[in-house]
Amino acid sequence: MTQLCVFYQQESAAFGNELRLMRAEMITCAQNARALEAEVVRLRARLFQALGPPKFRCGHSTDRYNVYERKGKRYCRTCHRKHSAASSKRKAAAASAPIVDSCGDG
Ligand SMILES: [Zn+2]
Repeated sequence: MTQLCVFYQQESAAFGNELRLMRAEMITCAQNARALEAEVVRLRARLFQALGPPKFRCGHSTDRYNVYERKGKRYCRTCHRKHSAASSKRKAAAASAPIVDSCGDG
């Protein structure tokens, strides 16, 4: 029974040391992650300075006032407004156009 207790204490001490080592590694990894996140923020700011603010392909800015999201995609609100106005204009022109009799009787 005594040998079993000694073995148990040795295993417990080894486990404690291993646990301490893993905690130290975890703390180091967390510090590295924070440093890398700071680096990402710094590089993103440099990229923003170099390229200017991000834009859509149409050239309009992608700030939060000009973006709407639908089904996981991001769309340009300015272009949507333009297309919508053009569509309304076409519909209004079609509705106000004189009705042409197309039966061919003259
Ligand atoms: Zn646009």
